[in-house]
Amino acid sequence: MAKIKAIHAREILDSRGTPTIETTVWSDDDHGAVSSVPSGASTGRFEALELRDGDPTRFDGQGVLKAVDNINNIISKYVVGQDPTKQNGIDQILLNIDGTASKSKLGGNAILSVSQAVCELGALVSNLQTYEYLAEKYALARPTSKHLPTPIFNLINGGKHGAGNLDFQEFHLIPSSQVDFKKALQIGDEVYQSLKKVLINKKAVHSVGDEGGFAPNLFNNVDALELLIEAVNNTPYKLNADCFLGLDIAANSFYKNGKYQIKDRQEPYSAEEFIKYLVDLKKQYNLLSIEDPFDQDAWQHWVNLYLEMGQETMIVGDDLLVTDKTRLQKAIELHACNAVLVKPNQIGTISETVQVVKLAKKNNFSVVVSHRSGDTDEDFIADFAVGIGADYAKFGAPNRMERVAKYNRLSFIEEYLAAAGK
Ligand code: PEP
Ligand code: MG
Repeated sequence: MAKIKAIHAREILDSRGTPTIETTVWSDDDHGAVSSVPSGASTGRFEALELRDGDPTRFDGQGVLKAVDNINNIISKYVVGQDPTKQNGIDQILLNIDGTASKSKLGGNAILSVSQAVCELGALVSNLQTYEYLAEKYALARPTSKHLPTPIFNLINGGKHGAGNLDFQEFHLIPSSQVDFKKALQIGDEVYQSLKKVLINKKAVHSVGDEGGFAPNLFNNVDALELLIEAVNNTPYKLNADCFLGLDIAANSFYKNGKYQIKDRQEPYSAEEFIKYLVDLKKQYNLLSIEDPFDQDAWQHWVNLYLEMGQETMIVGDDLLVTDKTRLQKAIELHACNAVLVKPNQIGTISETVQVVKLAKKNNFSVVVSHRSGDTDEDFIADFAVGIGADYAKFGAPNRMERVAKYNRLSFIEEYLAAAGK
């Protein structure tokens, strides 16, 4: 049995140039796992607390030296000497040291950084790929090259990730789940390149946003959907057969005084009007999925939309559910949605994240494993998506290395599984 010999954390920069944490964990049989954690911009109010220094003389208060110090000087005392394959036990130790509901003492970022690095070390000492290790440990998936998560490509970035003139945060292209991962990646990338040409022809800005999707200067949200259709039509692929459209509305960001204010209409929409607007949008664009259509506290709006289109649309809870078992249970009971966005850093440990996946699967919710808008070259999340048998993997556009690293890892896993099958 291997034991954790040492642990060391340090401050690094994420894809937005904002500090985050990288942790290395070594075992006494000479393995070492290095792992870094991401950070969101459109965060749900109920996410685990990300501990930041608040020191205005460094990185505008965004430094993470306190969280790093918590790992090097507090967590290490409890974790060194533990068996790295005992993920649940180590996560429980982390929860016990922290002792708060929001993980505010050590910081959710410090806790996840250790939890994730321990998971990668557990795989190394077990002589397994991380996805194999997760699949064996939690028995939620039996990965094969034919059943990898379907990628959700975020080709246009608006909301808090864009240039400021689109209200909806993400405009998705989702390849058919009938094609293998390699083909899905090709479809996503070819439509992305086609979209660039469409934007250039229209003299719209084609620089990219936080998640690598284009952040064009358009008039309204429907324009973005129309451009996506044009981009697909300029490729050999057929919309609604080879690929589909989806949205992350991220409605928290434009919900004010009980109303939804977007550029597509001058007066704000009441909840009832916004439901009707979304039902019409679904019909017109055959949307495969809609994420966060309403505010994180507006449960009744979710329930009403689910009644209208829950049977034929994937309605995804991100800010609503924040990868939290209690909130997911509430959504199941209320029939508020039928899919959960899974972001380990919303909850803070790998084993709690797995608990959420288990509950979702037991209740036939679709599972969408997701990156964050501020991310690193870390590819753990790709292994996690495969290892727990996610239906979808949402890792941004096929652009910017912190996004592409994750898609490339999925493609490695596909080839590795295919070779193993032979
Ligand atoms: C999202 O909202 O789905 C997302 C990935 O963005 P962020 O990381 O900013 O929450
Ligand atoms: Mg979201």
